[in-house]
Amino acid sequence: MPPLSQSVSQELGKRLHQAREDLLATVRARTVAGEGDAPAIGPLAHEVPGDDRVTAEMISHDEAHLAEHEANLLHEIDVAIGRLESGGAGICESCGRDIPEARLLATPTVRTCIGCQEQIEKEQGTGRGPTM
Ligand SMILES: [Zn+2]
Repeated sequence: MPPLSQSVSQELGKRLHQAREDLLATVRARTVAGEGDAPAIGPLAHEVPGDDRVTAEMISHDEAHLAEHEANLLHEIDVAIGRLESGGAGICESCGRDIPEARLLATPTVRTCIGCQEQIEKEQGTGRGPTM
């Protein structure tokens, strides 16, 4: 018996595929905005002659960071879609209990129940703190 009702499962699939499209569209839009220049992401972005070098490196760093975030998000979405198709969605990866449907719908890529999520965040330390 799949733990999710048909309608929730369909809704999750729809949201995941939509999120994937949106993400790819965002990346694509930024790529097009490059107007044929060398891609901002990559080693070439650092080879800017003159005094603009520092600024260029900062921009490059920001974009690299964003791309990493996007790559992670895309991976999360793909994993969630895979779990949904294999019938594994809605089950906490950590403790095996059902994840509430409301939590799934709020965050379709979620893989753990709230209790385990809090435990994981605790174990990961204070990485999310506002440290500048
Ligand atoms: Zn759990």
